[in-house]
Parts: sequence; structure tokens; C-alpha cells
Amino acid sequence: MFFNRKGQEDKLENIMEDVEVYSCSDSACNGWMRKDFASDDLKCPLCGHEMTMEIRELPKI
Ligand SMILES: [Zn+2]
Repeated sequence: MFFNRKGQEDKLENIMEDVEVYSCSDSACNGWMRKDFASDDLKCPLCGHEMTMEIRELPKI
């Protein structure tokens, strides 16, 4: 007998969850970070703008 287990593994890899993140308020900038890893002053790590909180669906870590 031959069992193909690949299908099961694929399902386990992509568990998504809603995560609070801070994203850059500059629409031209892609900077964002997870709330858990945000810096104390909540400035964008890329451009230094203020960041605003939002909910994103991200792979569970
Ligand atoms: Zn930015």
C-alpha cells in the first residue's frame, strides 16, 4: 500500500490568525510590524513616520 501524506502536511503549514499590527501612516511606505515587536515610540522602522494600529491576517508563528 502507498499513502500520499503530502496533502495533510500542506494543511498544517498555513494556519492564519488575526494579529494586531502597526502599519506606517505614509501610504507610500510599506513599513509595518507586529504589535508584539513594535518599538516603544511606535515610529516606522523604514521612514520614521507615525504608525497606526490595524488587524491583519498573518500566518501563525
Ligand atoms: Zn514608513
